[in-house]
Amino acid sequence: MEKIQNFIGGKYLDPVKGEYLDNYDPGKGEVYSKIPNCTQEDLDLAVRASEAAFESWSKMSIDKRSRILLKLADLIEENLEELAVAESRDNGKPLSLAKSVDIPRAATNFRFYGSSIVNFSSESHVSEGFMVNYTRRAPLGVVGCISPWNLPLYLFSWKIAPALAMGNCVIAKPSEMTPMTAAMLGKLVNESGMPAGVLNIVHGEGSGIGQAIVESTATKAISFTGGTVTGKKVGATASQQFKKVSLELGGKNPNLVFADCDLDEAVKMSVKSSFTNQGEICLCGSRILIESSIYEEFKERFVSEAAKLKVGDPFDEQSDLGALVSQAHIEKVQSYIALAQEEGGKVLLGGNRLPGNGYFLEPTVIDGLDEKCRTNQEEIFGPVVTLSPFETEDEAINVANATRYGLSCTIWTSNLKRAHRVSHQIHSGIVWVNCWLLRDLRTPFGGMKDSGIGREGGSEALQFFSEPQNICIKL
Ligand code: NAD
Repeated sequence: MEKIQNFIGGKYLDPVKGEYLDNYDPGKGEVYSKIPNCTQEDLDLAVRASEAAFESWSKMSIDKRSRILLKLADLIEENLEELAVAESRDNGKPLSLAKSVDIPRAATNFRFYGSSIVNFSSESHVSEGFMVNYTRRAPLGVVGCISPWNLPLYLFSWKIAPALAMGNCVIAKPSEMTPMTAAMLGKLVNESGMPAGVLNIVHGEGSGIGQAIVESTATKAISFTGGTVTGKKVGATASQQFKKVSLELGGKNPNLVFADCDLDEAVKMSVKSSFTNQGEICLCGSRILIESSIYEEFKERFVSEAAKLKVGDPFDEQSDLGALVSQAHIEKVQSYIALAQEEGGKVLLGGNRLPGNGYFLEPTVIDGLDEKCRTNQEEIFGPVVTLSPFETEDEAINVANATRYGLSCTIWTSNLKRAHRVSHQIHSGIVWVNCWLLRDLRTPFGGMKDSGIGREGGSEALQFFSEPQNICIKL
């Protein structure tokens, strides 16, 4: 059985203590590889390697650093097929999605930040005849990047790319549930010409090696994406050392459908925003709020479109939904479907696990629930969506905002004024109007309230991974 290794100091290494975890194939429900369960000893190696590499990497010309990142982007594209197959097997997502979204986006992340760093500028302020101030932005040193399982290489690279572009060295940990593509990245990193020790990849449990990365006095910043409960702990630990921390956490995203919308488009895209990647995208809409005058029509059309989705083998090109990531996760999602029924919800579609060992769940649509019930308040993170009617714009806004989360929101309306008016009252980091998941990487990305602190994307991430220093010169 394949044993994944850590990537430290440009070399693939076994974990020092020889401890491993099982890695499951969600489509088959069986163990197919072993991953290191790293300990402090492995972290010590990664810290030594990254500290040794920092001086030359941070002083390398921006042009050269940029070319290495651009080369890495090209290499990811050249190896797209192999990476997509690995990602799909590791995560359970349809291969077609890994090929069209996850892996291309990982390449784009490196290309975007490889280009951005060349164009990045810091501020200067001239008080004519009196003083000049300029802001120096220096890399922080060694930083920690910790990512979740739902978009494995996509989110892993989204953190690593700006950190490296800015001249930091990185100790990165992918989710222990989906380590494969991160493990494969090491080989491409070496081929790209990136010096040994600049990027180090360690594997294992969050409570062990993840926590150790956050606690380490060597890491000067932590960029974390994952659940809100974990994020709270990561934030609390990092703040003990006044460490910079960026937290991209959970969501319970509303999808507001007004009667004046293009209904064909709203139905089609709402099916996508509910069930793409088995609903395991932090940006998936999980509460669809529909103006009461079109509630019945929307419901009928939405359920009939969702019923056409095919759940099955991630490697079958016909599959729209693959497997959920793990046995524990599918059980959690199923427990929410049961809870929804206890809370008075009516399952309009789906609700069942497919027979067999894989973690396959039907797209599930529920209505008849109160906005305050747990099903409508807690993140389920699976192919489960609720439908509820609203009477007025104010009511829609109030219900949309009435959770602890504030990651994203989608608004369907043909009324331009309403689109702006409602957007400005929604407490979420991203609002999509008449679209979903469109991303321009220059824009700030992140959530409000319990969906996190800090923003990724564009220059925000480059600023996060640098320390501003004001230099003031009297004229
Ligand atoms: P998780 O919080 O369980 O794990 C995320 C990562 O943190 C993993 O690598 C894990 O090993 C590590 N970890 C766990 N405990 C840790 C600790 N004490 N210290 C340091 N690291 C630790 O989340 P998950 O189940 O992997 O991912 C799903 C969650 O991620 C969902 O809530 C989803 O909404 C969220 N998410 C958010 C975004 C976003 O951009 N806001 C994007 C994707 C996923």
